[in-house]
Amino acid sequence: MAGQESTEVLIVGGGIAGCAAALASARTDAEVTLATKARRPEDASTWWAQGGIAISRDDPEQFKQDIIDASAGTADPEAVDVLVEKANDAVRDVLVETLEVPFDTGDGNDDFDFDFGREAAHDEERILHVDASTGSYVLERFLAFVDDHPDIHVLDDTAALDLITHEGEVRGAYLESGGDVRPIFAGATVLATGGVGDLYPESTNPSGSTGDGIAMAALAGADVADMEFVQFHPTVYVDEGGTLLISEAVRGEGAILQNAYGERFMPAYDEDAELAPRDVVARAVKRERDLSGEVFLDVSEVDFAGQFPDLVEQCEQRGIDWESGIPVTPAQHFLCGGISVDGRGRASLDGLYAVGECAHTGVHGANRLASTSLLEGLVWGLRAGEDAPGREPMPMDVPDLNDRDPALPDSFAREKFTRLRRVMGEYVDIDRDPDELDRALGVLRRLKGEVDAYVRTRTSRSLYELRNASVVALLIARAAAENDESVGTHNLVEPEESVGLHAE
Ligand SMILES: Cc1cc2nc3c(=O)[nH]c(=O)nc-3n(C[C@H](O)[C@H](O)[C@H](O)COP(=O)(O)OP(=O)(O)OC[C@H]3O[C@@H](n4cnc5c(N)ncnc54)[C@H](O)[C@@H]3O)c2cc1C
Repeated sequence: MAGQESTEVLIVGGGIAGCAAALASARTDAEVTLATKARRPEDASTWWAQGGIAISRDDPEQFKQDIIDASAGTADPEAVDVLVEKANDAVRDVLVETLEVPFDTGDGNDDFDFDFGREAAHDEERILHVDASTGSYVLERFLAFVDDHPDIHVLDDTAALDLITHEGEVRGAYLESGGDVRPIFAGATVLATGGVGDLYPESTNPSGSTGDGIAMAALAGADVADMEFVQFHPTVYVDEGGTLLISEAVRGEGAILQNAYGERFMPAYDEDAELAPRDVVARAVKRERDLSGEVFLDVSEVDFAGQFPDLVEQCEQRGIDWESGIPVTPAQHFLCGGISVDGRGRASLDGLYAVGECAHTGVHGANRLASTSLLEGLVWGLRAGEDAPGREPMPMDVPDLNDRDPALPDSFAREKFTRLRRVMGEYVDIDRDPDELDRALGVLRRLKGEVDAYVRTRTSRSLYELRNASVVALLIARAAAENDESVGTHNLVEPEESVGLHAE
């Protein structure tokens, strides 16, 4: 085993959660390796975060309550305590003082002198942001920090394919780079692989969001939880060029939703109207689109150009006549569930941690409050990164995955992915009918069987991504089929159920 590659802490993923874990581990003088399959920063959801990052202002208890209310009472109060109580120190220490993120500033009356934004289901303005491009400002600085750090070894364009396990303990992962696959042994392995948007036909997530960490952890035997709670963002513009998220902050400033008849419909669905929790607004937008054909975000009462210049630029690049209302539809956005972890990001297998969107901390319950995901990734990334060092890597003999046939017909992966997305989009979306969920399970089981047959003899990044997507799709569909209670983002319906102005 001489010469086998090893590291004290292996971090998989280079979004906010992976970078935060790397920073915290490196602060303990640990030797850290961060492997990310991203070829460019835009490959992480963190880059695309718009509205910003929520922090605690005068009333932390109200912030906690907002998170719990948005989750329909299902968020874990202990996890929410951790998030809110660690929020301000983490943001101040890392984002403001270490990375010097240029958050928009305010009127000078606050301890944190910033221009706090407001988003749906928040009781007050508490969201730090840089225009509506917060994520790119955060990630650009974070990636530069980890790249420059002498104790953090960054491997770009390097995908983890599988975890290496021994008697219930995780000892590292197989990494693929340029077609070559090698094992790397680690005292602790931290998964920070982000979301699952690639499982759906329409998602705000960047491509490559195939749920790799969740699949690898589940296949290794780690517990996962709340997989049915897939969040759809209510206001996404979609055309053949892909998706463009219109931040909730725009509704926070007064934009309203109208159906194709020009009627404002949200007050009929919820007393908080456009500022109701995300799951409520997403269902209403879907219904109004079904009933009237189209839904528009009317920004005429907002200083859209003044307050959201980045969004205006993106609208204009896409040829959207935003002054006449932006056509919007719900699209997959976030997974509330994931790999079960405790308050320090420890998963149920020794040596394994999970942080960020791939983890289930309990903070989001059945529906996430806006602008709490960057915060969760930061807080849990730091906590896991502090906890992970101190274990010796334990190399061992493992099979050589290079000694296999790398060829995979492109058409195989393309065709399977198309089938998987169609099933998830039709049967496991916002409204869920138990018969359709059963149908989805049948198709997904067959599809996973076909993909597994290839994985037994072949190794390639795209094949493993397909394998991971099929595992995670099954986990989502199974959890949805097993949960007979409509709550938060899990909404069971009779096929022709409808609510709203036209239903009378
Ligand atoms: C358009 C958009 C807007 C959003 N706006 C906000 C907002 O305003 N506020 C907020 O709080 N949240 C927002 N979110 C959600 C938030 O951005 C994400 O949930 C969060 O950034 C996830 O961070 P992460 O570090 O867990 O994952 P990511 O940032 O997605 O990073 C995952 C990383 O893992 C890498 N990776 C994946 N699989 C592998 C593998 N097998 N091997 C190696 N590397 C791998 C990826 O390449 C990527 O680098 C938004 C999301 C989107 C898509």
